[in-house]
Amino acid sequence: KPELLDQVALVTGGSRGIGAAIAIALARAGADVAFTFASNGERAEAVSRQITQLGRKALAFQADSADADAVVAAVERTVSHFGKLDVLVNNAGVGDGGPFADVSQADFDRLFAIHARAPFFAAQAAARHMPNGGRIISIGSNLSTRVPDAGLALYVSSKSALLGMTRALARELGPQGITVNTVDPGSTDTDMNPANGAHAASQLMHNALGRFGAPDDVAAAVLHLAGPGGRSITGSSILVDSGFNA
Ligand code: NDP
Repeated sequence: KPELLDQVALVTGGSRGIGAAIAIALARAGADVAFTFASNGERAEAVSRQITQLGRKALAFQADSADADAVVAAVERTVSHFGKLDVLVNNAGVGDGGPFADVSQADFDRLFAIHARAPFFAAQAAARHMPNGGRIISIGSNLSTRVPDAGLALYVSSKSALLGMTRALARELGPQGITVNTVDPGSTDTDMNPANGAHAASQLMHNALGRFGAPDDVAAAVLHLAGPGGRSITGSSILVDSGFNA
């Protein structure tokens, strides 16, 4: 029997890249899948079609993670549409950064809103509905535990918030039987970080396996946490970085 048969999952930023791979992997494992996107409705429709072709129900809606209320509304819509929520994946993110000296307070607020504020309040809303066995999984970054270059201060600061949140929520939600974890990718071939992009060569210098990961590699770790194999993993992080941080 598929591991997540008849469960309901919500993935933020599911229209492309890692989020799309996670949404499709969850559907392949038997879940009905809701997902959000920022603006790319066509890509969202393509992902919905793939989920439907797998015999599962899909629900896609635009919800900008910069607005935590929009993400909380996405949680509530998922519950009212499917009647429950078993798995929340906080994935939506942006690869913005730049030199420390140039970061404005507006840049700071935007990245923290997307990477920290939205996941925090999505988790709060989800926990109100999740049954015992629920799963909250956030996509962090390998850069939260090792910073190899300058120019990453804002990105890393905002992504690192997920690590503290995850440990604290593991304590908070453990009594309800909900696990809370991050999956921390390294260089993964997506629109955000193409394997043939301008910054690829410098990333490969640190990469033990000598290649970018694929979105499916990250999705596989999410699937493990979401499935029965993840029942005793909480407050933890799984690094999927091809040995970048080794
Ligand atoms: P992509 O840029 O390829 O895809 C981003 C996805 O998130 C799209 O579905 C996009 O929607 C959505 N999204 C972006 N901004 C928002 C927003 N404000 N509100 C709602 N949805 C949004 O990124 P990746 O797949 O590479 O990244 C996914 C996650 O993995 C991010 O959190 C990223 O920080 C993290 N990560 C990625 C790494 C990599 O090397 N690729 C490495 C480490 C971490 P739309 O299609 O509408 O634009």
